[in-house]
Amino acid sequence: MNFDIKKIRKDFPALHQEIYGKPLVYLDNAATTLKPQVVIDSITNYYSTINSNVHRGVHYLSQQATEEFENTRENIRKYINARNTHEIIFTKGTTESINLMAYSFGKKFLSQGDEVIISELEHHANIVPWQMICEEKRAKLKVIPINNNGELILEKFKDLITKKTKIVSVSHISNALGTVNPIKAIIDIAHQHDIPVMIDGAQGIVHEKIDVQELDCDFYCFSSHKMYGPMGVGILFGKEEYLEEMPPYQTGGEMIKTVTFEKTTFNELPFKFETGTPNVADVIGFGSAIDYIKKIGIENIIRYEEELLKYATQMLCGIQGLRIYGEAKKKAGVISFLLKDIHPYDAGIIIDKLSIAVRTGQHCAQPVMDRFGIPGTIRASFAFYNTKEEVDKLVEAILKVQEMFN
Ligand code: PLP
Repeated sequence: MNFDIKKIRKDFPALHQEIYGKPLVYLDNAATTLKPQVVIDSITNYYSTINSNVHRGVHYLSQQATEEFENTRENIRKYINARNTHEIIFTKGTTESINLMAYSFGKKFLSQGDEVIISELEHHANIVPWQMICEEKRAKLKVIPINNNGELILEKFKDLITKKTKIVSVSHISNALGTVNPIKAIIDIAHQHDIPVMIDGAQGIVHEKIDVQELDCDFYCFSSHKMYGPMGVGILFGKEEYLEEMPPYQTGGEMIKTVTFEKTTFNELPFKFETGTPNVADVIGFGSAIDYIKKIGIENIIRYEEELLKYATQMLCGIQGLRIYGEAKKKAGVISFLLKDIHPYDAGIIIDKLSIAVRTGQHCAQPVMDRFGIPGTIRASFAFYNTKEEVDKLVEAILKVQEMFN
């Protein structure tokens, strides 16, 4: 299909609003993406018609809810090419997926003196849960450092691995700098030592084609809301052999097989990890988002976004006094920058008043900011509905900020 940007933009109602009397330029896509009308319709349709709980009822609507819910699981399985639907677990989002992992995998496989490897580039969601479980188990958290371009230093990663390493958990793409990490190489190196690898794909799956079998990752997680789907839904993909061994994360209804006051037995995968009423409407909405992405084509999205990022990088590099943080050879979706002598927060406020949504601050990645000795950055993050004209507006806004401060 041809990539028709005008047609695509029509699909996103939130793009067509004015903020402070000017058309919105939305460049905060790494935080959350806008939703196409089909996703919004799908949620409305669920509540206007089906509105029933899953897996529990024999009545018509409940069966419909279950069918659509489970069809979405199959849709996601296919999208990431997992072997089985029971390797696809619905969560609230990436953060919950990683908490599930740290708690459940950690409970089963971590003991005193063991080691967990993460990287300096991680979102707090892929730091704090591991830190907590390491503290509890008296295990050690080790960190792969980054170089001045914001790239992981693979040689240092190799040095960190020991016989005590039980899991490696790294992001696919950095939300703070846009670095695309060499996850295939990381997985291959870890597997040479029989160490499983978890990939935080919150940003990765948005900008790359994911095939979990080809990658051979043991776990991969992501959030619907960063993929043009609703908030409150996420996925943990895990290889069956690990998920079978891992204990439940939360307990209650749905995740059980039998309950007596003496003993409870647990349901099969994936339900062992899905307790209570799930977010049915938003899971179904997520299915519509995946269908939408498939219709446009991830290859088309990647091509368009690469071109846009290249253009934006060139344009921003041309601004005197602007420094980009994160100059990795392979980047996607994000430009993080600072303006000389101007606090990112002050710049962000002015850019906002020019109706451009960018993010300022640490982007939930304080160690990255500490690494560069900065308080935070201004971050423009792109989606396939953004345009070069919007990049030009960002450039104008930055020049205006500089003018005001000079
Ligand atoms: N990991 C990365 C790389 C992210 O960018 C984010 C969100 O920005 C998260 C984890 C957390 O995702 P969520 O807030 O959807 O749970």
